[in-house]
Amino acid sequence: MLEFKGVRKSFGPLQILKGVDVEIGKGDVVVILGPSGSGKTTLLRCLNFLERADAGTARLGSLEVDLNRATKKEVHAVRQKTAFVFQNYNLFNNKTALENVMEGLITGRKQPKETARKKAAAALDKVGLSDKYDAYPVQLSGGQQQRVGIARALALDPEVILFDEPTSALDPELVGEVLGVMRQIAADGTTMLVVTHEMQFAKDVASQVVFMDDGVIVEAGTPGQIFDRPAEERTKRFLRRVL
Ligand code: ADP
Repeated sequence: MLEFKGVRKSFGPLQILKGVDVEIGKGDVVVILGPSGSGKTTLLRCLNFLERADAGTARLGSLEVDLNRATKKEVHAVRQKTAFVFQNYNLFNNKTALENVMEGLITGRKQPKETARKKAAAALDKVGLSDKYDAYPVQLSGGQQQRVGIARALALDPEVILFDEPTSALDPELVGEVLGVMRQIAADGTTMLVVTHEMQFAKDVASQVVFMDDGVIVEAGTPGQIFDRPAEERTKRFLRRVL
């Protein structure tokens, strides 16, 4: 249902993505693992046009675009089908939780304010923040702020949610509540592409684990294949370090 092919990206002389292919089925949770600096975040950013790839194609259902040459209209079309959860939440500090979730619905999806308000409330309920509609980010813990970030993505009802290390900015005691919400929305059938260092989450929730190193996909498979029977030496070495 979603397919990214041949994604390449350099920053100056440094080739960060060297031709990456990813396929995601409807309702799948694909987890991307890999050492720091291997290009995981850059890949997600290219898929959502937060960075412009040097080459590659994206297919989302019937929509097919060139990641390098996409027109404004195509970029908009891809963004209509995707949502992004940022490492640092990226909330508007001068807006309440509810307003943060409504914003994308009103400006991006051109929905009437009342519809947006209802959808935003439902999304905040889903992530366990029904008592925080009127709270500003500064009044929320990091875990709660990230749950607003997830609610904002959910409210858009995208075909896929891209998660960029959603728990890595959190104090350890706040990680669990965010992973809990992610587990729940995965169980609801949300299609997710997740960059994370949370190995237990990958083991429990992933339909597919992708191991990336140095701008390429070294291997991909089920959690059982990657964690219990990795084929590649690079994967084994990484897992020995992190497990
Ligand atoms: P990962 O998510 O696997 O840790 P990243 O995609 O964040 O890896 O980064 C891969 C490499 O690309 C790093 O060496 C990083 O410094 C570099 N990089 C990322 N973004 C930029 C940028 N905007 N300009 C220059 N280099 C960048």
